[in-house]
Amino acid sequence: MIHATHSFDALMEITARPPVVFVRGEGSYLWDDAGKRYLDFIQGWAVNCLGHSPPALAEAISVQARQLITPSPAYYNDTSLRLAKALTDLSCFDRVFFANSGAEANEGAIKLARKYGALHRNGAHEIITFEGGFHGRTLATMSASGKAAFEPLFEPKVSGFRKARWHDLDSVERLINDCTVAVMLEPIQGEAGVWPASDQFLRDLRELTSAHGLLLISDEIQTGMGRTGKLFHYEHTGIAPDIMTLGKGIGGGVPLAALLATEAVSCFEHGDQGGTFNGNALMCAAGLAVLEEVAAPNFLKAVAETGLYLESELQRLSARHGLGEVRGRGLLLALDLRVPIAASIVAAALDDGVLLNAPRPDALRFMPALNVTRQEIDLMIGCLDALLTKAGIARRVA
Ligand SMILES: *Cc1c(COP(=O)(O)O)cnc(C)c1O
Repeated sequence: MIHATHSFDALMEITARPPVVFVRGEGSYLWDDAGKRYLDFIQGWAVNCLGHSPPALAEAISVQARQLITPSPAYYNDTSLRLAKALTDLSCFDRVFFANSGAEANEGAIKLARKYGALHRNGAHEIITFEGGFHGRTLATMSASGKAAFEPLFEPKVSGFRKARWHDLDSVERLINDCTVAVMLEPIQGEAGVWPASDQFLRDLRELTSAHGLLLISDEIQTGMGRTGKLFHYEHTGIAPDIMTLGKGIGGGVPLAALLATEAVSCFEHGDQGGTFNGNALMCAAGLAVLEEVAAPNFLKAVAETGLYLESELQRLSARHGLGEVRGRGLLLALDLRVPIAASIVAAALDDGVLLNAPRPDALRFMPALNVTRQEIDLMIGCLDALLTKAGIARRVA
């Protein structure tokens, strides 16, 4: 293929991107416009859970596109009813509101908690979130996030969020007052660098919130849809949150997200919540196609096994190169490099045709397709091994 030159000037400059233009994807691989192939361990940011352009998803979208795209959110459509029913059957929740992004689902969760507080808790509206947490890029979800880089931006923030220290139950308890209505967290802090809460911490948090009559909101946008080897992360812990948000993998690559809640908490009244594209038949058909594959018991068992394989290979790599811990669960893992070389490793891996992510200067994050093969893992590990050897030599020389 002839390398076309592209102008990047028409897009707003919102992040540093390498000058690579992707034109095709299949499974664990992407191709750029020069025909170079890349092994993808980012997968749209833990989004393409079945890999790039999986046939079942492409087929479901094209069939649905010919059938019905959207009748408007003022009417029911059959695919959104079926997807909502499937999600409630497979979870501890009773009601679903579909959204178009994770941030929008979290906005909905925040609004639902505030509505619940207005109706049942004397107007309580504060939500306790966590330092290091990430919940999205709308004003309210940036305000809910505990990301230091967000702090000076877009003032004034949306008020009503108080930040507890990650994994510190006492710090949560100290923030509870008459205005508190909910505690919101990611079971594994993904964007901060893959910092898991222990199952015990999550159980203790459930006990604490229940004792105070507070809602527990689990942001499973990154951990949900099979990413950790169970369909939803909360299943590892035996607890049931009151509200859960899903995004990323739920659409397998298309913009779909969801807000789920128990019956007792589903208190929106007409006019409180909505959106033009929400629950459109086209995206919900994609969601159904994804769920059908991901929710199959054998699929989830394979994710857990593949996750253990990747984890053990990363641990071997860490031992060989004197690196730090491997964190995370299932196929959401991070390798602590102990030194701030992640960005240069990511750049060198790109040259070698492997896509990796550095959520922090000293860590790499791995979020491959949930059906990634051991052979693909071996290829990625081989590339990383060589790069770490080079980096180690460079370090010793320097
Ligand atoms: C990605 C992410 C979001 C935001 O989702 P968008 O679709 O980018 O709006 C929110 N919470 C968590 C935990 C995420 O990983």
